[in-house]
Amino acid sequence: MLNLLKKYNIHPKKNLDQHFLVDSNAIKKEIDAADIKKSETILEIGPGPGTLTIELIKLAKKVIVIELDTSLANLLKNEYKDTIEIINNDALKIDYPPFDKCVSNIPYSISGKLTIKLGEIGKPAVLMYQKEFAKRLIAKAGERDYSKISVMTQYYFTPEYIAKVPKTSYYPAPKVDSAIVRLIPKKKNPRVKDENVFKKTVSALFCHKNQKAKKSFYHSRHMFDLSKDASKDVAENMPLKEKKVYELCQDEIISISNYISAHLPQETEQT
Ligand code: SAH
Repeated sequence: MLNLLKKYNIHPKKNLDQHFLVDSNAIKKEIDAADIKKSETILEIGPGPGTLTIELIKLAKKVIVIELDTSLANLLKNEYKDTIEIINNDALKIDYPPFDKCVSNIPYSISGKLTIKLGEIGKPAVLMYQKEFAKRLIAKAGERDYSKISVMTQYYFTPEYIAKVPKTSYYPAPKVDSAIVRLIPKKKNPRVKDENVFKKTVSALFCHKNQKAKKSFYHSRHMFDLSKDASKDVAENMPLKEKKVYELCQDEIISISNYISAHLPQETEQT
């Protein structure tokens, strides 16, 4: 990998989260966790110089990579030519071609948005995150790391913490350790009456996660198309209003969001 960077005169760019894996043991763990079948098309986000990509090519039917950095996309084009499909673009800005699994050591600054985007698509994924972020993905109600991304990730997926990967597995070494997480897609929870309102409710409540649900909702009322009086009314009458936001499990948040959707003006309810 270091040879490749030298050959193409590429220096890691901080602003693109470029920390490249140099530890074959970490790659093996990620590949094992992905359990790739010969029939599968694998999507990789942020392949960098292709250390993980090479292993994916050996195991999958097809590998599609999305790399924002044009110099790295060119490196991949030269080195792996016909064996992969390369999309030189921002993984948050484009629609993805069809794939069976996403296996990636991702750019950390897009962790949250990318996880939600993959959740919408509903395919399995094995991703490397910053360790602290990985802990938030799996945190349960009442735990210190429980946050908006815990609720949304666990709405779309069953997340499994696979293994810690030390920062020394990278060149250049980042400031913090990483962790591999497997995301197994879930059926959408049929209790959710309006998914848009559910997402807004999660955002609204977790803006103030240490407050009581009613207060947090009231403070975030601008996110809903509700008058001040109507918001007060909803806050005072919604289920679980006295519970602290960080103590609310997914089912309880759904109860609150269903109550909110039932009390929104008609148009908002339908969007
Ligand atoms: N997976 C590689 C590289 C990880 S570094 C490895 O394990 O070695 C993160 C990679 O994501 C870099 O190659 C960076 O250029 C790329 N990247 C950063 N932001 C991106 C974005 N928004 N969309 C696609 N790729 C991105």
